Amino acid sequence: MSNNIKAYNNVLELIGETPLIKLSQTVASFPGNYYAKAEAFNPGHSSKDRIALHIIEQAEKKGILKPGDTIIETTSGNTGFSIAMVSRIKGYDCILAVSSKSSADKIDMLKSMGAKVYVCPANVSADDPRSYYQVAKRLHDEIKNSIYINQYFNDLNTEAHYLTTGPEIWNQTAGEITHLVACSGTGGTISGTARFLKEQNPNIKILGVDAYGSVLKKYHETQEFDKDEIYPYRIEGLGKNLIPTATDFDVIDSFTKVKDEDAAHMARKISQTEGLFVGYTSGAAMQAVKQLVVEGEFDKNSNVVVIFPDHGSRYMSKIYNDQWMQEQGFVDSKSTANEQHIEY
Ligand code: PMP
Repeated sequence: MSNNIKAYNNVLELIGETPLIKLSQTVASFPGNYYAKAEAFNPGHSSKDRIALHIIEQAEKKGILKPGDTIIETTSGNTGFSIAMVSRIKGYDCILAVSSKSSADKIDMLKSMGAKVYVCPANVSADDPRSYYQVAKRLHDEIKNSIYINQYFNDLNTEAHYLTTGPEIWNQTAGEITHLVACSGTGGTISGTARFLKEQNPNIKILGVDAYGSVLKKYHETQEFDKDEIYPYRIEGLGKNLIPTATDFDVIDSFTKVKDEDAAHMARKISQTEGLFVGYTSGAAMQAVKQLVVEGEFDKNSNVVVIFPDHGSRYMSKIYNDQWMQEQGFVDSKSTANEQHIEY
């Protein structure tokens, strides 16, 4: 390639260094300054690009992954898409075992990135041989030269954010960050970022976001796994029904739980007011900020960084679909959504 041509060698070079964007209208009445760490600016449109690249490159360094080998994971979400993307460029086969609950759109997205998708029945227990956990395990055992990413129990997930997201936020805020607000699923994002930030300044407050229906907040407060906390909810990628070892609960100061409906409305509000087309959990993180404002968490000197994990395009058949919102009971007849759609 000519030295005059300013081109990236491939999309992997665009992973990380996502922008920090000052929020305005959404936070107009809140004390302090609020900044979004916009992870949708990664080439795979989510923070999961960081962990896919880091875990795969560490396996290469250790010599356990060579071109032509197979990478296996159990996810239909952002992690699957990112692993498929990295696999394409580095020449690996990618196998994703997903639940039959996953939408057709999501499965098609994974296939568009070249992944082989095993669709496994959703209504079986995790130890049933047909469950996506067991199918992934079996494939890993059977396929020679394969690695299993296992993001919920892989310390490299957390390390990816310790090495990239944390330092980026520290540098972008010139060390003036006072609070970090981040969703917790595997816990990799919040734990890795927080660990780095607390090493720079232990006074930075780390505020986790959890879902109603998830065990994380209760576990953080009591160190007990309370299965009564578990029930179905809509937000994907937030909260969990088990305790992931990728989460470092010690670096998190507190958790705030948010409701499906509030998070959905907040995501739509961010898109409409900030011009930032964000996913469902970005709405959840911002809803947590709103609740924390009411609790008096911030003052005029606060510099609050809120991680927005992914892009709104992943949710066209959900929170950005008026019919879906209505079916969930999230929209009443007075909603602006009705005013925006004019049949002529
Ligand atoms: N938001 C979305 C959309 C996600 O897919 C995830 C990952 N499960 C998260 C937030 C939470 O990130 P983490 O797994 O690093 O806790």
